[in-house]
Amino acid sequence: MFEKIYSPVQKIDLHPLSNLYVKRDDLIDPYISGNKWRKLKYILQKAKAEQKNHLVTFGGAYSNHLVATAAAAARSRLQATAFVRGEEVNNQMLLICSLYGMKLIFVDRESYKNKVDLYKQYFDSDDSTYFIDEGGASAEAVQGCSEIILELTKTYDHIFVAAGTGTTAAGLLKGIQDAGLNTKLHVVPVLKGGSFIADEIAGYTTLSDHLILHTDYHFGGYARTTPELLDFIKKFSKQTGVLIDPVYTAKMFYAILDLYQQNQILTTDRILAIHTGGLLGLLGMKDKFHFA
Ligand SMILES: *Cc1c(COP(=O)(O)O)cnc(C)c1O
Repeated sequence: MFEKIYSPVQKIDLHPLSNLYVKRDDLIDPYISGNKWRKLKYILQKAKAEQKNHLVTFGGAYSNHLVATAAAAARSRLQATAFVRGEEVNNQMLLICSLYGMKLIFVDRESYKNKVDLYKQYFDSDDSTYFIDEGGASAEAVQGCSEIILELTKTYDHIFVAAGTGTTAAGLLKGIQDAGLNTKLHVVPVLKGGSFIADEIAGYTTLSDHLILHTDYHFGGYARTTPELLDFIKKFSKQTGVLIDPVYTAKMFYAILDLYQQNQILTTDRILAIHTGGLLGLLGMKDKFHFA
């Protein structure tokens, strides 16, 4: 199921940028969406090589990673269990996880903090299980994400990506370095205090001046939005015909336009934005949007 897939690169019209391209990883699969497909590719390969038939992972109740893992497990005929942070809830993400047969174990926020302990508590004597960290963060995920660079047939002055754990950004940076490109990688953390992302990336590849972190586009923190950001999503979707999500990709595209307004990028620069997917999250946000 992880046979080679090249996601398309599409030019979009986001006034006044005239050279903005989007790598449509959101189109790879609706459920194993975007960077989660890239991240799981080698994780599943490794799990299979180690003859594990049960994936165990972690996430919040709106985690794209949980949906992706559930779908990937079902299609690969593996079992899946997720530890879900917080009290029991039901939403569109967990519905899809359950339909794919993923077992959900809700754990309070305190216990969730120590994932290795949780894993041991439930699965210590079970050698069929394979531990996948929250968000899929791992060297295998970095390798999978670095392949995005290998698929590019043109060069860009700037590549933009949103970051949660920074694993995808690490893969892109590694890809850029390995290919000897001059491209700048602009990373937009979606959490408050996003400078920790540099340390995360440094755990996987050497930091270089290819990397630029923009820590001021978190809009209040993880999964937080503002009326301005929601308004941006509406305008962007209508103008470009491409849907974006409030948690990750909207913050990245907002940053691109804002940096242009600050003259940090030029209209003539060739820019590639990685659409990392995550659109299912939008469906839980209908009450946030107001349509007049
Ligand atoms: C998970 C996710 C990210 C963040 O990826 P990291 O590798 O954790 O930085 C970005 N965009 C979308 C849509 C995601 O689902």
